[in-house]
Formats: sequence, structure tokens, C-alpha cells
Amino acid sequence: MARRGTWTAALRTPVGACSAVLLALVVVLSVLAPLLWGDGAAAIDTDAIGQGPSGAHPFGTDSLGRDLLLRTLVATRLSVGLAVLATAIGAGTGVVLGTLPAVLPRRAARLLIAVVDIAVAFPGLLLALFLAVIFGVGTHGAVLAIGFATAPAFARLVQTLSASVSGRDFVAAARIAGVGRIRLLVRHVLPNIGEPLVVNATIGAGSALLAFAGLSFLGIGVQAPDYDWGRLLREGLDGIYVNPAAALAPAAAVVLAGLAFNLVGETVAAVVGVRTRLTRRAAPPAPAERPALPEPPADAVLVVDNLRVAFPGPNGWTVPVRGVSFSVRAGEAIGVVGESGSGKSLTALAVSRLVEAPGVVTADRLEFAGKPLATASDRELGTALAMVFQDPMTSFNPARRVGGQLAEVSERHHGLSRRQAFARAVDRLAAVRVPAAERRARQYPHEFSGGMRQRAMIGMGLMGRPKLIVADEPTTALDVTVQRQVLRLLARTRETEGAAILLISHDIAVVSQTCERMLVMYAGRVVEDLPTGAPAQHPYTRALLAATVDLDTDRDRPLEVIPGRPPEPDQVPGGCAFAARCPLASDRCRTEDPVLEPAGKGHRVACWHPQVTVLSGQSHEEGAA
Ligand code: SF4
Repeated sequence: MARRGTWTAALRTPVGACSAVLLALVVVLSVLAPLLWGDGAAAIDTDAIGQGPSGAHPFGTDSLGRDLLLRTLVATRLSVGLAVLATAIGAGTGVVLGTLPAVLPRRAARLLIAVVDIAVAFPGLLLALFLAVIFGVGTHGAVLAIGFATAPAFARLVQTLSASVSGRDFVAAARIAGVGRIRLLVRHVLPNIGEPLVVNATIGAGSALLAFAGLSFLGIGVQAPDYDWGRLLREGLDGIYVNPAAALAPAAAVVLAGLAFNLVGETVAAVVGVRTRLTRRAAPPAPAERPALPEPPADAVLVVDNLRVAFPGPNGWTVPVRGVSFSVRAGEAIGVVGESGSGKSLTALAVSRLVEAPGVVTADRLEFAGKPLATASDRELGTALAMVFQDPMTSFNPARRVGGQLAEVSERHHGLSRRQAFARAVDRLAAVRVPAAERRARQYPHEFSGGMRQRAMIGMGLMGRPKLIVADEPTTALDVTVQRQVLRLLARTRETEGAAILLISHDIAVVSQTCERMLVMYAGRVVEDLPTGAPAQHPYTRALLAATVDLDTDRDRPLEVIPGRPPEPDQVPGGCAFAARCPLASDRCRTEDPVLEPAGKGHRVACWHPQVTVLSGQSHEEGAA
């Protein structure tokens, strides 16, 4: 219904209405003109040779006395038909050339991409002329020439669109699931690039029409006794001094038909674009009713209540973070753990105000240092909230020296002079144990090792007096020794600066070592909130703990794994999202969604059958589920 409504609205616009009228005219003439006026257009009248416009012949006659208006109308079928055929050849070849690099070996793929790049650099008509000479003079040669001349542009478009779709999570998921390359292309990539291709092909048909008229005009397109608008135009130009109107009819036909294709393309593009914009403008789905967050402590530096992050998609809103609630006290270290896609990093980005449009962040409460995060100024946030990313190489500008980048924070937020700010940068680099800090401050990021870059990133956060450091997988890219150094540095920073830490990690062992409290996320929700070291009660937390490897792990036993995969954010099932992977799942689990309930001091769990029996290595507490 929405699709039909969008089309109706588009056709009511001046461009939409014109395109519909012109297209209908072109189609009707293509079908009916040869049937109605074919004989009249071919009738030779030796008494009316080379006449100018008259009541009987509005555009005059040709050198055999044939009516030029009728011939122009009859030529519609051949002119438009050949243009559509050439466009189909171009689009088909382009799709093949554009998708082949994805399935060919790397070298062959590169070669093909290079060939397409070179072909795109040629002007289209020039390439068509070159190919027309190769394929031979005549209708067939011209169709092939124009078709293959337009193929490189289609191929380039397909390559670009495919590359953008290939990076999306569902393609990665299909690849990991073992879907073959060709199937991946046909089932997952091509269906998602169809709409822009159709828009481009429609506009391309207009260009093909002009190119065809050009080739026929030059005498290498349609040959006698057949005729299209290009040939009529050429014949008209031959007698332009005797009958100027003779060239007018085919020229007007070329312009009007070209305009029809272009306007149809514009209308289709508008419908596709409007649909996307409408989807984006619609409000994200209303949050489900959740129990309110317990009153946060008075010294809470961060309060998050019912946080949701939503992104618009072609089929509606996807909500990867679905009602997350927690608070962080001043100086507290909290870890957020979960598998990829659990929503932990998006939660970190949302509390750092780094979710970019078209993502939408909503929350019942989202407060930092007692103020709504949405209204905090950049200046306040810039010095009080520090962010440490997984890959500091991408967080530093590779073209600027490290010290200058750190100093910029103090120049901007503390009003220090350049010299003072640089001195502070050197001091902060020394504070995070970067050796020879003054010399290092004058170096570029690529001259730092991975661990040193991460320390410099933490040093950048310490240019102000941060109340909260959000560290998103800060040790994932580092080896174990450096990982330990960075974690120690975070802990020391917490002690010396009094900063709270929100540590995002997929590694539950890292969080256990560094944090006092742990939030376990699954499918965009917190499923357990527990003090580190307390017995885990949620089956997912227990499975994560069981899959953790340490020096005490029995090497003779196979590693524990959690079967299955987390659901995609847009395919979260009803009931408990973990039910499909949970050994304790009951009928209730599959239909009712458990909410986060108190489960002991400082402990909350979202599970219908929490397990109170502890895992080995933890203090034992008996209880019934
Ligand atoms: S609610 Fe049921 S399915 Fe979900 S984790 Fe608990 S026991 Fe497993």
C-alpha cells in the first residue's frame, strides 16, 4: 500500500505527470503507429516529391513524395525498440562485468576492474563509434556498439553498489555461514542493488536513443529500406534549404522520447528516494514497558535508563540496543561484556554521544554528571568524558604529530597557549608511561607501537580531568603483555584521577580483572548485572564463563563453546532472545520475555530459570531456581 501511495504521489508532481504522459505517448506510438500508418508512410507519390509543409503533409514530403509526419510516427517503434535493446545489452553486460570481480581470483579481478576503469574514461559516443566500426555498419552492429559502449558505466555502478552492500553485516553473516560466492552475489548482493540499477537503466535508455540517432545520422546505424529517426534526420538535413521542416519532425521526436526516458528515470529515482526518506522519517518503534531503573546512587556519574538505539532500514527500524539501564558511580569500574552484535559498543557510543545520523538514540534518562547528556555542551563533555577506541591508529590523525593532537584538547577546552598545551601533552604522555615523552610527542602516530598508541590515547583523555573514561575494546588489538600494561594503566588512572571507567569487552576475563561490576549484554539487552566474582545466574553469563580459557584450564578437555549464533538485530525472536541456544529453555522462555529483576545484593538477572549453583572456582551458594 505504501508503495502504491508513493507512486501515486510521485505521478501527481509536474515531473511525474509529464513523464507518465510522454511515456504513454511513446509506448502507444511504438505499438500502433506502424499498424495504423505503415502503408501511408511507405506510399510513394511522384506528384508530391520534395514538397514543403501543407495541409495534406504538415512536415512536407521526402524525395519520393512520402509523408514525413507519418514516417516519423512509424519510425518510433524501431528507434525506441533499438534503444531499449541496446540498454538491455549494456545493463546486462555491466552487471556481469561489475559482479565478476567478486568471484574471480584476485589478479583476474584486478585486471577486469582496470579494463572497466579505462573503458569508463572514454567518452561514450566515441566508444560507440569505435565499436560500430568493429561490429560493422547496420542495425545489428549499432545495437551491439551502443550496448557495449554503455556497459562500462553500468559495470562501475554495479561495482560501487556491490562494494557498499558487501560490507553489511548480513552479507558477512552469510559468508561466515559458508554461503558460496556466486550464491552470495545472486541471493544477497544483487537484490539489494536492483533499484538504483533500474533508475540508471531508464535514464540510460534516453542516452542510447540519442546515440542511436547519432549513428544513423552518420550513416552507420539503420540502413535502407528501414528507417529510424536518425536516418530521417539525415535525409531532412540534405534538403534543409528547400524544406527546413523536414528535419524538424524527427528532431522533435528524438528530443521528446529522450525527455520521456529521462523524466521517467527521475520519477523512479524520486519514488525510491522518497520511500527511503519516508522510512527514515517515521518514528522508531515505541519502547516496550520495562521496569524502571532502581534509584541511582547520589554520586552517580552516568545514569542510563531504558536506552534504545535504532537505525532505519529498507524494511523499517532495526533496534540493536533495546532498553538498557544501568548507572556508574564516581570512580567505579564497570565492564560490559557480550558477543559481537550484542549492542555493547553501540551502548558505549550512545553514552559518548557518538551515534551518527540516521541512528536515533532515545532514553527515559541519559545523564552525565547530573545533567542530561543531550544538553551538555561539547566543552563540558570534551574534558569530562574520555573515549578510548579499539584501534588508536584510526583515532589519531596520521598526518599530525601526536603531541600536537593532544595539545589541541587543552588549547580548545582550557584556553592554554600552544606552548603550555604542548608542555601538558608531554606531561600526560609521561603520566601514561610513554618513554622519552618529549621526543615521542614530536613523532607521528605510525612511529608509535600499538600499545604506545593506546597509552597515548588514554593520555589524550587525561588532558582534562575526566569523570568517566569509556574504553571500547581497548586491548583487543594488542598482544597479551601490552594488554596487561594498558589494563594496569586504566586501573592506575582510575586511582590517581578518580575517573570512573566503562570498559567494553568481549573478553569476560579482562573485565573480571579490571572491574567491580559487570553488565552482560545479549541481543541488545542487559541480561545480567552482577558484582565481579559473584556467582553468575544467567545461563548466558555462565556459558561465557565456561568458555573462558585461563592457565588452569584442563588442556585435555575440549573447549566449551556456546552453540549457535546470536540473532540478527532485526530478527530478534519473541520471548527470551537466548532461548534458541539455552539448554534450560522452557515453553515460557519462548513466549515471555524475562525482565531484569533483583537477584541478590547488587545483582540483577533477566531469566525465568536463573541458576544459583556456582561454577567451579567460585564461592558456592545453594539455591533453587
Ligand atoms: S529465560 Fe529461559 S531461555 Fe532465557 S536464559 Fe533463562 S532459562 Fe534460558
